[in-house]
Amino acid sequence: MLPIIALVGRPNVGKSTLFNRLTRSRDALVADLPGLTRDRKYGEGRIGDRPYRVIDTGGLSGAEAGIDALMAQQSWQAVEEADAVIFLVEARSGVTPIDQQIAERLRRTHKPVYLAVNKVDGADPDTAVAEFYALGLGQAFPLSAVHGHGVHDLIEPVLEAL
Ligand code: GDP
Ligand code: MG
Repeated sequence: MLPIIALVGRPNVGKSTLFNRLTRSRDALVADLPGLTRDRKYGEGRIGDRPYRVIDTGGLSGAEAGIDALMAQQSWQAVEEADAVIFLVEARSGVTPIDQQIAERLRRTHKPVYLAVNKVDGADPDTAVAEFYALGLGQAFPLSAVHGHGVHDLIEPVLEAL
């Protein structure tokens, strides 16, 4: 059985871009349209001799109605299936109320949760992640999924702990 890593967070923070990095695929549909990935999507990857399975999710928007509720259900189902969770937030938007809601629920799952601050791009990583410690999830990993920066430093400790 491969260890399973779930990617969760608001729509548009870069989950599918990270999924593509972790699976080296173009399978997950990446677009500017929030909420494009409505179902759970599974892929596989490996770091060195350690293979893993990764689940991309549609995004948690905090809305309770319609398609958003279905997406949320899929995301929390992925968390249930996972051995570890990567919670993505976005450097440029800062901590949002939805991020706080997600963090609160993730703290109650008792699964290992890794907080990744995406879209750090050219910014100073320490400054970019500083405010996200307020989410109460411990260390925040700076990431630029689109450039591949920080991916290895994030996934190493995730796999190490499994
Ligand atoms: P998802 O909805 O969370 O799956 O987000 P996507 O992976 O579809 O990405 C949403 C948008 O953010 C796309 O236009 C991506 O190219 C962009 N994006 C993803 N990662 C980064 C990043 O590290 N830096 C920047 N600047 N944009 C990114
Ligand atoms: Mg997506």
